[in-house]
Amino acid sequence: MFESLSERLGGVFDRLTKQGALTEADVDTALREVRVALLEADVSLPVARDFIKAVKGKATGQAVTKSVTPGQQVVKIVHDELVRTLTGEGEPDALKIDNPPATILMVGLQGSGKTTTTAKLAKRLKEKNGKKVLLASLDTQRPAAMEQLAILAGQIGVDSLPIVKGESAVQIAKRAKMQANLGGYDVVFLDTAGRLHIDDVLMDEVQAVRDIAQPRETMLVVDGLTGQDAVNVATEFNAKVGISGVVLTRMDGDGRGGAALSMRAVTGKPIRFVGLGEKMDALDAFEPERIAGRILGMGDIVALVEKARETFEAEQAERMAKRFAKGLFNMNDLKAQLDQMLKMGGMQGVMGMLPGMGKMAKAAEQAGFDDKMLRRQIAIINSMTKKERANPDMLQASRKKRIAAGAGVEVAELNRLLKQHKQMADMMKKLGKGGMMKQAVKAMM
Ligand code: GDP
Repeated sequence: MFESLSERLGGVFDRLTKQGALTEADVDTALREVRVALLEADVSLPVARDFIKAVKGKATGQAVTKSVTPGQQVVKIVHDELVRTLTGEGEPDALKIDNPPATILMVGLQGSGKTTTTAKLAKRLKEKNGKKVLLASLDTQRPAAMEQLAILAGQIGVDSLPIVKGESAVQIAKRAKMQANLGGYDVVFLDTAGRLHIDDVLMDEVQAVRDIAQPRETMLVVDGLTGQDAVNVATEFNAKVGISGVVLTRMDGDGRGGAALSMRAVTGKPIRFVGLGEKMDALDAFEPERIAGRILGMGDIVALVEKARETFEAEQAERMAKRFAKGLFNMNDLKAQLDQMLKMGGMQGVMGMLPGMGKMAKAAEQAGFDDKMLRRQIAIINSMTKKERANPDMLQASRKKRIAAGAGVEVAELNRLLKQHKQMADMMKKLGKGGMMKQAVKAMM
């Protein structure tokens, strides 16, 4: 489904990963090409722009991991960013069907694949979840559409609401609910009428049905081949009737795939399923990891970088444990600790993990111990030379002035950090001497 985008990106990254060392200009050029590829795949301009910005920010702040090339790291960053762009909250394929009978409202334009998708979802709930499902067509304008749903219901072996001529959509919705209650159904699908374009009459009708039916889910079906239009349709439906998710159909075709990438960012609503053909089981849950893998087609490199990073982190942890066991603790060690804290979600994150620390975390924040302080402390250590970090005792007034200015802080803050470091180093020394640290480290490993 993403062939052309995938091919374009493949070309860019093949060139990038073949190079040993990358300059910033190399990365810039590659990202410019990625941006063009995204736009050509019909990804919306703001989404493409944000995407490139995020990748660039992460690529420049990245610690270089041994055993992979910078190019490979960039591939991994792009992959992670693709996943992030595609991901919504919650589980995509878990339709809310508690409190039976649960109503699922199906909305969308005519020809988008709404009726087909209704039957596909019904089949899935019946076979995967063992649910008793009722289908009802509300398309009073097109008798053929009503019959089509009844035929599909027969094919997949679920019930459909008997067709009664002359009823309004709201009347059918009421009858469907009653039937679902009486018949002990778990789920009732309401397949609303589609129009060729969004118009007020259609929206009024859908709103009236929604108010009567009180659906647990309102699923919008849009044609994935229509690219940017699919995103616009979703934006409008969401504004007018409120949708809980999107099903993107015809993703088996050779569409440019941009709709999939823009949908979440532009509408705020996740893609929950993708339609992959006309058959009743041609429906997949939307899995960002898998889709990102398909777009990029570089699964090996992504796995390689993940592995390298794990190894790198394990090696670093071991190196530090060894130093601590000897009672050693210099500025580099302190910086590694601060970095680690930030990575774990900052002060609040670290304290939040400890039971009963919620209040303390608040108090600490009020006292000025927050992530900004962590970042300032890291900046201070970054302004020190290698020698100074290894041996902070050598810091005299002029050096302190230079370091504080470099980090944009007062000397007093530097002094506080030095004191903090000294206390920690003293403690390490004591623990190291008594062999206690060795035992503690052993117990932790
Ligand atoms: P509705 O007017 O929105 O209810 O659309 P239909 O459900 O009648 O679908 C219109 C046409 O699109 C039918 O021929 C379907 O078989 C076809 N269709 C629906 N979903 C898909 C899909 O995911 N892939 C492909 N290739 N065709 C689909």
